[in-house]
Amino acid sequence: MACKKCVENPVIQLPNSNVNLCKNCFIKYFEKKVNKTIGEYDLIDKKDHIVVACSGGKDSTVLLYLLKKLTEKRKDVKITALAIDEGIKGYRDKSLDFLTNFCKEHKVELNIFSYEKEFGKPLDEILKSYNGVPCSICGVFRRYLLNKKSKELNGNKLATGHNLDDESQSIIMNYFRKNIKLSARLGPITGIIADKRFIRRIKPLYFLTEKEITSYAFLKGFMDKFTECPHDADSYRAQIRDMLNNFEAKYPGTKHSIITSFLEILPVLKEKYKDEQEIKSCKICDEPCSQEICKACQYAEEVVKNFTR
Ligand code: SF4
Ligand SMILES: [Zn+2]
Ligand SMILES: [Zn+2]
Repeated sequence: MACKKCVENPVIQLPNSNVNLCKNCFIKYFEKKVNKTIGEYDLIDKKDHIVVACSGGKDSTVLLYLLKKLTEKRKDVKITALAIDEGIKGYRDKSLDFLTNFCKEHKVELNIFSYEKEFGKPLDEILKSYNGVPCSICGVFRRYLLNKKSKELNGNKLATGHNLDDESQSIIMNYFRKNIKLSARLGPITGIIADKRFIRRIKPLYFLTEKEITSYAFLKGFMDKFTECPHDADSYRAQIRDMLNNFEAKYPGTKHSIITSFLEILPVLKEKYKDEQEIKSCKICDEPCSQEICKACQYAEEVVKNFTR
C-alpha cells in the first residue's frame, strides 16, 4: 500500500487511523500539526523571547529544532535553550553532551544550570539522604529552576516538550490524587493568573503522540537511541503511563479522548480556580509559592542541608 498522499512507500501509520504516510509526507504532517497548535492557541507573540526547556531527549530536541525552524524568518522572536543538569551519572551527562553539540550545530544559545551549583549537591548525592521517590524531590527542583532561570535569562515564555501522552498522564494523575486544582494549570498554554513571577509555559507538541515524536526524531536523524533516567520506573507517573498504554493498546484513541474531554472542561476549571490561588513570595528565595517557604527551599534545607542562599 502506498503513502496516502503520494506514491512513495509508507514508513508510519498515524495513530487512531488507517492513514499510512511516507517519510516526507509524515514530516510535513508533523510540522503542520505543530504550526496549527501554535496558531490556534496563540503560543507565539511578537517580540517573544522563548526559552526552550531542553534535556537532550527526543521531545525537547524536536521542539527546539522546530521552534527554531518555524521562527526562522521572524527577527522579533528569540529562541534560547535552557537545560538542567540534575547530576545523574551515566544518564544526564550523556544527554547534555548530545544537546551541547545539537545547539552548536543549530546555532542556539544553550544555558545549563546544575543542582550541584544551585542547591549544593548533585541528585546522586542528594538521594543518599532522601528516602522518598527520587522524582518527587527532583521534579520540585527542576520546576523551580526552570521558572527562576527562564526569568533570569529574560525569557517571557518557557516552551516544554510535553506531548499528548505526557498530558493525558498528568490529567489522570491529578484525578487519581484528587488534585483537580492542579489540572487548571494544564493545557497547551499554562497559567490561570497573570503574575509576572510565573513564566508562562507553552507546549507546541501538545497534540502529538510519543510515537509520532520518536518517529520524527528518527526520520530527521537527530539521534539513534534514547536513554531513560534510571529513576523513571519508580515514579507514580510511570505506573499511570503503563496503565494508559495498556488501555490504548486495547482501546485505541483512549489518550486522545482524555485530552479532548479535558480541553472541554478546562475553561470551567480555569474560571473556578482563578481567584483561589493566593500566591505568596518565598521568604528565603522570593520565588512564587503557596506557603511561607517554597517547596524547593524546604527540600534544600531539610535534605541537602549544606544549602545556603
Ligand atoms: S525521571 Fe525523575 S529523577 Fe529522573 S530526571 Fe525525571 S524527575 Fe528527575
Ligand atoms: Zn507521501
Ligand atoms: Zn524558596
